[in-house]
Amino acid sequence: MRSFVLSATAQRVVFGAGTIAEVGPELDRLNAGRALVLSTPGQARLASQLTGLLGSRAVAEFTGAVPHTPVEVTEQAVDVAGARRADAVVAIGGGSTTGLGKAVASRLGIRHLVVPTTYAGSEVTPVLGETSGGEKTTRSAPEILPDTVIYDVELTTTLPWAVSVSSAVNALAHAVEALYANDATAETDDLAIEAIRSLVGGLPALRADLAGLDARAELLYGAWLAGRCLGAVGMGLHHKLCHTLGGTFNLPHAATHTVVLPFAMAYNAPAASRAMGLIAEAIERDQAPSGVQSLVRELDGPTSLREIGFASADIDRAAELAAAQAYPNPRELTRAGITQLLQHAYAGDPIRPS
Ligand code: NAD
Repeated sequence: MRSFVLSATAQRVVFGAGTIAEVGPELDRLNAGRALVLSTPGQARLASQLTGLLGSRAVAEFTGAVPHTPVEVTEQAVDVAGARRADAVVAIGGGSTTGLGKAVASRLGIRHLVVPTTYAGSEVTPVLGETSGGEKTTRSAPEILPDTVIYDVELTTTLPWAVSVSSAVNALAHAVEALYANDATAETDDLAIEAIRSLVGGLPALRADLAGLDARAELLYGAWLAGRCLGAVGMGLHHKLCHTLGGTFNLPHAATHTVVLPFAMAYNAPAASRAMGLIAEAIERDQAPSGVQSLVRELDGPTSLREIGFASADIDRAAELAAAQAYPNPRELTRAGITQLLQHAYAGDPIRPS
């Protein structure tokens, strides 16, 4: 029987090339005039350019965003926002910076404008993952959804090729799992299929023309659609497993998604034949799991957990943690099944078409 909850969300999205120029007027639209600009240390220069564009609307910069939104870092940023009487945060960067922006804005009840520079998709979800004492917890609330997103394709031109691939496959994973979510709707199916086409078409096009903006626009558009899938429906085995591997074993977020996705798809395929058929058609391959694995290999993305720093000694513990949580997934989750999946992912075994 069909069953779902739909929360209509109001978020303003500005998409294009050179759109960062709109950041001041967009802040004005939010009636905010005292912004705290956030970034990671690696994007501090970009943050200071943004501060320049904001002029007197920017009251401080905090460039200490790190992965997994540790509460200690959030508290430092909240202190800066309080001391400077900020009425908005402007987060420029990937999912780590957006996470910090969500944590600060939702704690203080102030406006949140995001300028994403990767394909993570966090900017369009009302979800926040935070770490405290080494444990990552996730919560969802309407006030976590940022008010405005400015997508500027030009900002993705500095992404190294390897990050473009892993970040785009991270986005692809949102769309893949949306297609077999138990609360999927016709609307989320359409978003997911369009996202898959844009992401899978965009990557080879980008490799063929690294200097051009068209493929980058396609990828960023796909990331936006995929992020909306992530925000709209529940994710399954793949996301829970990556959450465990990233949160507990500190593996890099997007690269972990890139390795695990084909294996999680192969695990779920026997119980998700409709979704796998739609994905195979959208990526123009005979089968979805092996097709995604081939695509990643062709694009020189990571294909084994071993190569991204996971230790085989941690397989049992990771399987235990991933099997301990209860969540909807098309195929029944067993510890033995997850252990086997992780063994294959660790070694990067080729997925045989079934
Ligand atoms: P990230 O934000 O950590 O960025 C990775 C690195 O790339 C950083 O050092 C960053 O400074 C750099 N970078 C970002 N954009 C760049 C650019 N255009 N050019 C050059 N360098 C650039 O990684 P991510 O993969 O974007 O985000 C991962 C984090 O986001 C994780 O903590 C994950 O849990 C979270 N996330 C949350 C949600 C959600 O809905 N809550 C969704 C997706 C991801």
